[in-house]
Amino acid sequence: MKPVNFLFFVIIFFSQPVFADLIKGDLTPGGLIHAFLPPNSSATLNGKNIFVASDGLLVFGFGRNAKKRQILVVKTADGKIKHRSFQLKPRKYLVQRIDGLPKNMVTPPQAYWARIKHEAKILNTVRRLTSKRRDFLNGFIWPVKGRVSGVYGSQRILNGKPSRPHSGIDIAAPQGTLIRAAASGKILLSHPGMFYTGKTIVIDHGCGVSTIYIHLSKTVIREGQEVKKGAIIGEVGETGRATGPHLHWGLTWNGVNLDPSLVVRSDE
Ligand SMILES: [Zn+2]
Repeated sequence: MKPVNFLFFVIIFFSQPVFADLIKGDLTPGGLIHAFLPPNSSATLNGKNIFVASDGLLVFGFGRNAKKRQILVVKTADGKIKHRSFQLKPRKYLVQRIDGLPKNMVTPPQAYWARIKHEAKILNTVRRLTSKRRDFLNGFIWPVKGRVSGVYGSQRILNGKPSRPHSGIDIAAPQGTLIRAAASGKILLSHPGMFYTGKTIVIDHGCGVSTIYIHLSKTVIREGQEVKKGAIIGEVGETGRATGPHLHWGLTWNGVNLDPSLVVRSDE
């Protein structure tokens, strides 16, 4: 679809009265979307139920490989059903080769498999939790200022072996650089050291939206603690599988990895 047609489509789609006022986010893979529907609505995206709060707040996100055509169905309290189909703006992903990693970090020895599986389960569970918080509505800031050394969605080839696509962004910064909470929230996880991610923090920003901070050299918060946007939560390091000091920053909605660079402005 041509950009002009696409824009026209979006305007038509979101001009419908059922999608009242506040529509925010990027209609592209990696985008986090929220909207305010009439109170007591329910909704499905591509046939799956998605969260709508009783006041009508709708939140969802598009993963790296989200299909182009999306179908949103909204049922309002009076029983009316609205179907809307729309197209995501396609994006291309970089291919990144990283060589020289220790062999046991690319293909871990069997002795680590149980630990890796256990840690993956912890992260999967935490990143699928949802709460009634709404901190994400107040926007995000960069947790660290620095050069983006790895972008969302890139396909990494580690020592020549294709790995999972990059789930967040990497920000290069010296060891010990202070890391700030990208938005207010509650600390869901502060892990002292995972095989892949090292010292790891996950913050809940509400409605299934969370951010993750990995490879830290130090954490200065505890699980269950509330933090304000901009509060210091730890320091940049290279713990876990990292080839130098940097912050890997991720954004998730209900376990779907989104692109954090879409929710921050370059000057924030
Ligand atoms: Zn990374």
